[in-house]
Amino acid sequence: MSNSEKNRIYITTAIDYVNARPHVGHALEKIQADVIARFFRKKGFDVHFLGGTDDNALKNVLAAKAAGVSTSEFVDTNAEVFRGLKDALGISWDDFIQTTEERHKIGVEKFWRACDPKDIYKKAYKGLYCVGCEEFKTEKDLVGGKCSEHPSTSLEEVEEENYFFRLSTYGEKLKKLIESDELKIIPESRKNEMLSFIRQGLEDFSISRSRARAQNWGIPVPDDPDQVIYVWFDALLNYITSLGYGSDNALFKKYWEENENILHVIGKGITRFHAIYWPAMLMSARVKLPQTIFSHGYITIEGQKISKSVGNVIDPYDLVKEFGAETVRYFLLREIPAHSDGDFSRVRLIERYNGDLANGIGNLVARVATLGEHINPLQIDFQSDIEKESDAASDAAFKKYEAYMENFRLNEALGAAWELISFADRYINDKKPWTLKEGPEFERTIKNATYLIGTITNLIEPFLPGTAGKIRQQILFKDSVLEIKKGVGIFPRIP
Ligand SMILES: [Zn+2]
Repeated sequence: MSNSEKNRIYITTAIDYVNARPHVGHALEKIQADVIARFFRKKGFDVHFLGGTDDNALKNVLAAKAAGVSTSEFVDTNAEVFRGLKDALGISWDDFIQTTEERHKIGVEKFWRACDPKDIYKKAYKGLYCVGCEEFKTEKDLVGGKCSEHPSTSLEEVEEENYFFRLSTYGEKLKKLIESDELKIIPESRKNEMLSFIRQGLEDFSISRSRARAQNWGIPVPDDPDQVIYVWFDALLNYITSLGYGSDNALFKKYWEENENILHVIGKGITRFHAIYWPAMLMSARVKLPQTIFSHGYITIEGQKISKSVGNVIDPYDLVKEFGAETVRYFLLREIPAHSDGDFSRVRLIERYNGDLANGIGNLVARVATLGEHINPLQIDFQSDIEKESDAASDAAFKKYEAYMENFRLNEALGAAWELISFADRYINDKKPWTLKEGPEFERTIKNATYLIGTITNLIEPFLPGTAGKIRQQILFKDSVLEIKKGVGIFPRIP
């Protein structure tokens, strides 16, 4: 990430289809992106953080029909459930866009017209369409005649005249962009996947469908109302239409045109749309490109893929109700490796809770607060009071954490914070302050323990903002004065 351009960063999450309620996989992505947004805010960056929903997909139309309500009523009702993740999980979105909003329609229409006319052409097409992916599939995409992501959905054979985007001419440019990290794809494995996809040769892709097949839903092609803009072409544009591309230009200028830190956080299954289609579209319309794509893995539930038919869908709202937002955040961020797939299980969640939260950070804070609750406010002189080994451990944890955060290795960054928690526990066990109870040596130990807790609090704050706030209510530093106000336990054990 570049530090120039007035320390500004624009972070987006994928816009979700609203055909069903969000599951724990949606929650993971929003939480991961939220940590990154909070991390940069804490560093003093001007952060703009976006969420949203994809309302224009055909699968939303089909789901609305099944529910017996109008499509617009259906998408608005369900979009509210996705928007509500903000409060339920503490997602610090600055803005949230629905693709049925006017600002989006205006921008999409402008963008279509801005594309190089040579890049958009009409031709007859016949192919297999997966409604689940909202994408045409070629033979090489299929596994046993079915979509690999949606094996229970049958593919629809479609024959009609559509507009196409000349992606085939962008192969060399895209290859250079990705190889050079000018468009950086994290992790490396996804970058290699994209490069090998480009090497196989890029095919033009359809960017419209007939109004009839779209069931009269979506954004019409400018000057050809019988065609509706293909949902992916439309959806990707939310990243700029939300900033007012085509309408309010000040925000677009600030966070897109004059910003060298644009980060898309997405799931691995849609990397191709973001790393290949999206930059080609932007190049065609002469709009600048984003810098970074962070592509996270998927969650399995006790070893199985999340699926309605398996019946293992976990609603994040239910999890929050049972365990609280901070616990859900911690578990997903610590247990699911940010760069690959991971598994969710209740047993593991409770183990992590009791081991890391109740016995880890919760116990450390309670111990120190109990030891120090009767002392008067202490003046801390960081030069003479903080021991070399406390300072070195704190510094090492910070450096490790920063290096992991640089590559969005979120679970490992948390690991670095937890190593410091272990160090603080060992430090207190060695010093045995409970045998002293008062005096300069006792106070010195308390000062060092709270100094370590101060660093830990800073490290965990982007991950667990509520917990950081609670710790600071018990262990207060103000103008180098330490005050301890013992409160209730932060994470009581789950029996
Ligand atoms: Zn599919």
